[in-house]
Amino acid sequence: MKATHPRHPLGQKARVLLSSVFGPFAQNDEYGSRTINPMELYHNQVTRTQGGFSLRMFIRSFGLKLIQENIKAPCTLLDFPQLERFTAEIQNHTYDIIGIGGIAPNLGKVKKMCELIRIHQPGATIVVGGHIANMVDIEHCLDADHIVKGDGVAWFRRYLNQDEQAPIRHPKLLSGFGTRILGVPAGGKPKNTAAILIPSVGCPLGCNFCATSSFFGGKGNFVNFYKTGKELFDVMCDIEKSMKVNSFFVMDENFLLHRKRALALLELMQTHGKSWALSVFSSASILKSYTMEQLAGLGVAWVWIGLEGEESQYGKLKGVNTKKLVGELQDAGIRVLGSSIVGMENHTPDNINRVLDYAVSHDTVFHQFMLYTPVSGTPLHRQMQLEGKLLSEKEFSIADSHGQYRFNYRHPHIVNGEEEQYLLDAFNKDFKANGPSLARLIRVLLNGWNTYKNHPEKRIRKRVAWEIKPLKTTYAGAVWAMRKWYIGDDKIYQKLDSLLAELYSTFGIKTRILAPLIGRYAFVKLKKEEQRLAAGWTYEPPTYVDENSAALALRKAEQKKVKNQLPGEVQTGTLFKPALR
Ligand code: SF4
Repeated sequence: MKATHPRHPLGQKARVLLSSVFGPFAQNDEYGSRTINPMELYHNQVTRTQGGFSLRMFIRSFGLKLIQENIKAPCTLLDFPQLERFTAEIQNHTYDIIGIGGIAPNLGKVKKMCELIRIHQPGATIVVGGHIANMVDIEHCLDADHIVKGDGVAWFRRYLNQDEQAPIRHPKLLSGFGTRILGVPAGGKPKNTAAILIPSVGCPLGCNFCATSSFFGGKGNFVNFYKTGKELFDVMCDIEKSMKVNSFFVMDENFLLHRKRALALLELMQTHGKSWALSVFSSASILKSYTMEQLAGLGVAWVWIGLEGEESQYGKLKGVNTKKLVGELQDAGIRVLGSSIVGMENHTPDNINRVLDYAVSHDTVFHQFMLYTPVSGTPLHRQMQLEGKLLSEKEFSIADSHGQYRFNYRHPHIVNGEEEQYLLDAFNKDFKANGPSLARLIRVLLNGWNTYKNHPEKRIRKRVAWEIKPLKTTYAGAVWAMRKWYIGDDKIYQKLDSLLAELYSTFGIKTRILAPLIGRYAFVKLKKEEQRLAAGWTYEPPTYVDENSAALALRKAEQKKVKNQLPGEVQTGTLFKPALR
């Protein structure tokens, strides 16, 4: 940040509104919403073609929440508002600063929100952040006062005259809500859902296509919110205590890369007997540098790995046999989400099937497929711009450049929009060959039980025991339902049949009795879900309104003022309740 960093004249007294972009999301509209780009990470790009078996779930805008938690000014956060709700907010309440977070395909929405703010809150300063800020020429694409690239917490603290070096207060957020699978609502309770944990942002490995790495400085750079294992451990203890959780979804691009911190955390977890489970993102070579015992000790239960492609030249994959690595991890109960790229420079109509088959052969619990997409701000985007390969806005709308539709550039071998089908082929091949991700997840959980149920360390036994609890009841029922669904598909049926037999023999009579009872219920729900989806049903997140303590205090003071108000006086300020709406 430069010495000329702007500062708001009201400092910590400024009233702040932070908002994510408006919905609805899973429909085609003039602002850039797209049916194939819903606000659901898994259904959008992981379990996209798994129908009723797809994992449906929303994730809060944790970046905005982190900023809210770390500013002292009164701050209201609107998450997933509808356009009308956002408009009503700025019509009815006064703000000095309005911050909007979005990604590049949201350009139409952010533009619209800026226009509305100029009409209804002409005195407010508009701040735009999130990945959209990394777009080339963004300053000229919309009417904002400040474009914030990178760490928004430090920027806002400085803008509001706060100490930007002060310790980071971690927000308390569950990692998902509205979870649903087989048509059955799932999770939602803290003991079944991980809390979000944000140790660092950015990744110094700087792969050419990686938007998150570029956003936080690219190769060699990252932002540490918690430098030491002790700092992180203390934050985790606090979250555990107040949210009653025992697992963490670690929103850090490459958590295990910070080896010293991870090993210090492991030591503290051992000393204090913590049976936490961690879901992490990790590059393959970094993951491989840990022993299986270290991963088990850290409670690594789920990992998102970039597999990219068989012949990709990324350093993070050098010397790693990804199939072997995935096999070892999943044999030890670690659920793997593999991520593969469709449409790399060397992919052609002649080799694409082999490329996809190779990806599918990893048999990961989940598999993300994304088109090779130059996102504005990345080295790949700069390179393609120099080479004159990028499509203009007239040729290809920015709202469609989300990686699940078509290329936003001219590919050397794949033309005429063929990539759209290749991408669908990838999801379909994975689903057909490996079956529902839920069944794979249950298989891997059972592997974890078999591997660690007699581990000498009590806290590891304890962690695996609480993780596999649903295998005895609901998950066994789910396998029963899925097996019934797959009558006629011998390969997947056999897989499910032997999985169910193993669950029965492992967990005994109670599971044998419960599985068909739960299974019949799940089967009916699954059938209904399939019908609903076939009829075009989509899911939308509800709107959240959160106020920080300063905003709540301000609202209380204003309510008091209203009570004492004389006829004819004008009342301003926030008067709504924080709620899930
Ligand atoms: S290793 Fe993963 S997170 Fe890091 S730069 Fe590469 S793609 Fe991004």
